[in-house]
Amino acid sequence: MIKVNNLHKSLTDEGNKRHILKGITTQFEAGEMIGIVGPSGSGKSTLLRCLALREKWDNGEYTWDGNSVIKGGGRGPQKYRSKCAYLEQNPSLIIDKTALKNVLIGQAGQVSRLRRLVGMVRSDDYMGAMDELEKYGLLDKAKLKAGNLSGGEKQRVAICRALVHGAGFIAADEPVIGLDPKTAEHVLNTLKTLCKEQDKIVIAALPIELAEKFCTRIWGIIDGELRLDVKGRRLTMDEKRSIDLV
Ligand code: ADP
Ligand code: MG
Repeated sequence: MIKVNNLHKSLTDEGNKRHILKGITTQFEAGEMIGIVGPSGSGKSTLLRCLALREKWDNGEYTWDGNSVIKGGGRGPQKYRSKCAYLEQNPSLIIDKTALKNVLIGQAGQVSRLRRLVGMVRSDDYMGAMDELEKYGLLDKAKLKAGNLSGGEKQRVAICRALVHGAGFIAADEPVIGLDPKTAEHVLNTLKTLCKEQDKIVIAALPIELAEKFCTRIWGIIDGELRLDVKGRRLTMDEKRSIDLV
């Protein structure tokens, strides 16, 4: 169980302090696939980066299975950061390295800087990475440079990379934007299967239609506040209206 209590986040923009997340309180647990919906600028990406410990919090409490990760400000220790993966819209793969090497080296923020720098690879990592790539139909792409992969393949390599490095929680920021509908479904089904079969937690910023189709729970956010938290059903028209989605 992951709990967030009163998460606040502000940013200073041209000297003006702006409150971006205004006291987010929630909890979620293994196996959940949560879709975050809300208008542009409502704070979806910031919330995802904070939850994945990729960005500092001003204030708030964060616990994993009762253990304190953050109390007050800060970004949380590496020990917890390595359990969270952050999937961006355009996965930050190293384009001139192979898919396999990308999986092995790991993600900035998830593995130590030293390990990334020297590309340290343990021999059991190699087998693990090949196993993951095979599971996602990417074995024949393992030796291709990441820059030559399609959008859906890149996103699946990023998912493999997250899993190989032990992520239990994947925060995904609009992971299927720009992908054709079939590929988008493939990527979202991949994430859904991880939740269902491996008890991972996925939280993804998604368009409402995809959140309703793939997620077990929907968070509606507007103006930095979590207004809706709905499980196992679609949003009503009134709910959509309350977060400016219609
Ligand atoms: P969303 O993902 O829902 O579109 P974001 O989390 O990206 O929203 O942004 C929330 C608010 O924070 C927006 O008003 C945006 O302009 C502001 N914001 C995001 N990143 C920065 C930044 N680095 N500096 C200043 N303001 C930012
Ligand atoms: Mg965003």
